[in-house]
Amino acid sequence: MDHKNLTGHDGTVHEGLLNSHTGHLVDVACDAGRYSVVHPYEKLDPARLTDSPLSCPACVTANSPTTAQLHRGRMAYRYAEGVVALADRRKAPPAQDDEGLRLAFLALAEENPPPRSLYSLIREHVTDMLTDRALAVPKGVPQVLVPYKRYTGGTVQAPVGPGDRLMHYSAAGGYFEYVWVDGLAETPDGVVVTVHEKGRCPVTYSAHEIGRRYSKLDWSPLPSAGTIQR
Ligand SMILES: [Zn+2]
Repeated sequence: MDHKNLTGHDGTVHEGLLNSHTGHLVDVACDAGRYSVVHPYEKLDPARLTDSPLSCPACVTANSPTTAQLHRGRMAYRYAEGVVALADRRKAPPAQDDEGLRLAFLALAEENPPPRSLYSLIREHVTDMLTDRALAVPKGVPQVLVPYKRYTGGTVQAPVGPGDRLMHYSAAGGYFEYVWVDGLAETPDGVVVTVHEKGRCPVTYSAHEIGRRYSKLDWSPLPSAGTIQR
């Protein structure tokens, strides 16, 4: 999440909270809402970025150390931490990105529902947390990079580790193929990656082929669930 000062429609300077990979304005730190800075269905006008200090009293309060709990970005961050921690309890890697998160969001909505207006910020924080994990480099594993598409936008190059799940989408065939990474190895011809599809024999690809064919879907099990150290 990027934090930037933005001039609102009425000239007030708010603290904007932006998607760090696309620059999309998610929200402002106070209750004024993103529409105090952008119009519906419009992108953030770069001319709204400003070096001027905050003039919105609520944004100033949210940035003061004694009243920081009023900062909407921080409130959303705590909810996001709760969602990811709940999803982690399943300890099943593919579930961390989809089913585990779906169940965690459901549990949150039932037990400790956040204000609706925080949803987009929570989603953005969860996406940042998942991206950090997707980018964590397994120790001692040769580096092979594949694209990782962030849920709220933006694609980054992420390292492949044993246990990761990769996806290939065939536009021509119109189907999704999922494979699990069995291992990476250094060979005289470069690094190779061995993967298997459920119920199929393992296939070994060069690093270049892997990067062209697959993108990263989720990461390998947490250290507590297996032997992989990150
Ligand atoms: Zn404000």
